[in-house]
Amino acid sequence: MIVCRSKTEIEKLRRVNQLVGRILTELRQMVVPGVTTAEIDASAEALVRAAGAEPAFKGYHGFPATVCASVNEQIVHGIPSSRQLVEGDVLSLDMGAKLDGFYGDCAVTVPVGQVSTDAARLLQVTEAALFHGIEAVKPGARVSDIGAAVQAHAESHGFSVVREFVGHGIGTSLHEEPQVANYGPAGRGPRLAEGMTLAIEPMVNAGASGVKVLSDGWTAVTRDGSLSAHFEHTVVVAEGGCEILTLLDADAARARDLLAIGG
Ligand code: MG
Repeated sequence: MIVCRSKTEIEKLRRVNQLVGRILTELRQMVVPGVTTAEIDASAEALVRAAGAEPAFKGYHGFPATVCASVNEQIVHGIPSSRQLVEGDVLSLDMGAKLDGFYGDCAVTVPVGQVSTDAARLLQVTEAALFHGIEAVKPGARVSDIGAAVQAHAESHGFSVVREFVGHGIGTSLHEEPQVANYGPAGRGPRLAEGMTLAIEPMVNAGASGVKVLSDGWTAVTRDGSLSAHFEHTVVVAEGGCEILTLLDADAARARDLLAIGG
């Protein structure tokens, strides 16, 4: 069942998702050569708790941390550790939080210092693919319109889309119906309606789309070792389109710029 949220519920979703967006913005300032992913995670947990919220991932099916920290060929679900970031890495940070009974979820991939042109292009195309997917969200559209838009954008730039992990409905649970794939033909699946809340999260690989999970049982990596990027926003379907609940006002212009990039 896909739930349509009331105004009051949407206000609660807006609060927790803005919180997650703000904390991720703070965390990305920490992403410099020499910092460990465990240090970033510790700050994330402190910021979430200081806001009166709870980490959503910590303890979820046994995940041990507040953020997923996935470096380079790691796609998602990387476990924070004593690994020090080095110049040229790319770090995906995915964080969820729960506040007043509702969940927020957002992810960004951040360059560590100066990265290669190819890595910078992968990040830009993946974030743009997310915004193209979000552009497909409006009442009456179908869920698969989102994935079709994401896939078209990523593949038009020579990249591939991960199939094994998908976006999701979100609300009083972290993962709700429907699943939001990042690939496939448009015009399939449930129709979107005002008040539906979705976490849209393309994972895009520089090489082939294949995935394997490491022996820690969590970390998903590209099978061919190529770089991967991951961006996520939580949106609520609204009249004529949607509201991006995790997008800070300061980043709205950036979203428009990314959509203006051709392809
Ligand atoms: Mg998610």
